[in-house]
Amino acid sequence: MGTTTRMTRQKKAILEILCGTKAHPPADWIYEQARKKLPDISLGTVYRNLKLLKYNGQIIELNYGSGYSRYDGNSNEHYHFVCEKCGQVFDVNMPLQKKVDEMATKVTGFEVLGHRMEFYGICNECK
Ligand code: ZN
Ligand code: MN
Repeated sequence: MGTTTRMTRQKKAILEILCGTKAHPPADWIYEQARKKLPDISLGTVYRNLKLLKYNGQIIELNYGSGYSRYDGNSNEHYHFVCEKCGQVFDVNMPLQKKVDEMATKVTGFEVLGHRMEFYGICNECK
């Protein structure tokens, strides 16, 4: 089996793990899950494939300045809520606010391609 095939198999496994959870997990969690399917996989390989998947637009990397990234298997544009107590990240299923892009275009004169928005607060479990 060639390197390319193995890479594809690993990439597929990582994508499946990410698409099967709503937890927006960090890389080490993904690594633990991937090891159940592919015992030989290394953390470095997980990082490499996450980078590749992100580059291909198949996943989203979320970084809230906490020092490590979380990953999202839902690559469609959507908003997130971050709980300030437990750190969990939730999807916020509300329509995209395209007006925000228009406003930013108006103010800056730049070509605005999109925006990111995160909500902060306390989740129901922590309330
Ligand atoms: Zn919470
Ligand atoms: Mn999400």
